[in-house]
Amino acid sequence: MNRFRLPYCMTVEEGIFERVDEVISEFIPGVGMQKAIIVTEENLKNIFGKCLDEISRDFKNSEIFLVNKSSYDDAVDLGKYICMNDIQVVIGFGGGMVLDMAKFAAFISKTKYICLPTTLSNDSLASPFAVLGTDNGARKTFGCKIPSCIIVDVDVIMGTPESQLKSGIGDTISKYTALYDWKYGCSKGDGKLDDFAYMISEMALNSVVYHENKSLKSKSFIMALTEALVMGGLSMEIAGSSRPSSGSEHLFCHSLEEYHPEIKISHGMAVAMGSIAASIFQGRDDMKVINILKSYDIDYNPQSYGITKGIFIDAWQRAESTRKNRITILNDTVLDSEWLSEIYDRMSN
Ligand SMILES: [Zn+2]
Repeated sequence: MNRFRLPYCMTVEEGIFERVDEVISEFIPGVGMQKAIIVTEENLKNIFGKCLDEISRDFKNSEIFLVNKSSYDDAVDLGKYICMNDIQVVIGFGGGMVLDMAKFAAFISKTKYICLPTTLSNDSLASPFAVLGTDNGARKTFGCKIPSCIIVDVDVIMGTPESQLKSGIGDTISKYTALYDWKYGCSKGDGKLDDFAYMISEMALNSVVYHENKSLKSKSFIMALTEALVMGGLSMEIAGSSRPSSGSEHLFCHSLEEYHPEIKISHGMAVAMGSIAASIFQGRDDMKVINILKSYDIDYNPQSYGITKGIFIDAWQRAESTRKNRITILNDTVLDSEWLSEIYDRMSN
């Protein structure tokens, strides 16, 4: 069985960023006395300057490090800086780019990593992976570790654009086809299913699908979405792979990123859109995915994101090649242009 870690704490509350040190100290005694670094970015410093200063004060006037770009080299340099300066706690304050940098730097410097997300746009916040830029500009996924603590301030999330929350919902809904593909891949000899990780990922999916209050800016929904994203990250940690959260619908997203970088669509929206088509390839009811997306008022029409029929067909036909060693339904599906064209029309109406 894969060895895995769990976070010491996960707390979702209103105004909790004002007492981060108190919350963490309950789980990691004396953490406020340790040397820390806060990793964030310029525009967040402008918006949350007072809050960041307070956190800094609570952690012995820790320095605030501003991320410009999230390349592998930058993350390694930050990790080196952390080691050289005997820093013991890394606090990531921000969204995807900042959190991936902070997570990877904490991993290589073997320090505690505290995750303070300012958005809930995908499940990478609690995953054991970091996506960082490489020399040729492409983004690559690197294994690392999940956060020691995850603290979500409902007031901060309430202030984020709804599109980011919808992206988080989309990433969670995509587990509908990711889980099927994981089982399918295992039946074809690609890895072994981990029942516990499968169950956790399915719980994440269900907590969004069946959540009664679908108003995005309610505390109960923000709690449910946080839990779903964290469970998504944990299921990957337990499985030791991204398979519980990533199937053919994610390959469609990777294909869009790689071959059609001009398309500006969030990760969550792309994988949710991918799940509609993937569920058809899997011989399942795509209306199940469509109805969930509709219940959250999520626009799944490819045209809304500038994805033409030609791009849609091309992205699907090249999707399998973006991760050749991963078996999904795509390995046994003939994606002819006519069929993809019909699916595109179905999604565009
Ligand atoms: Zn994802």
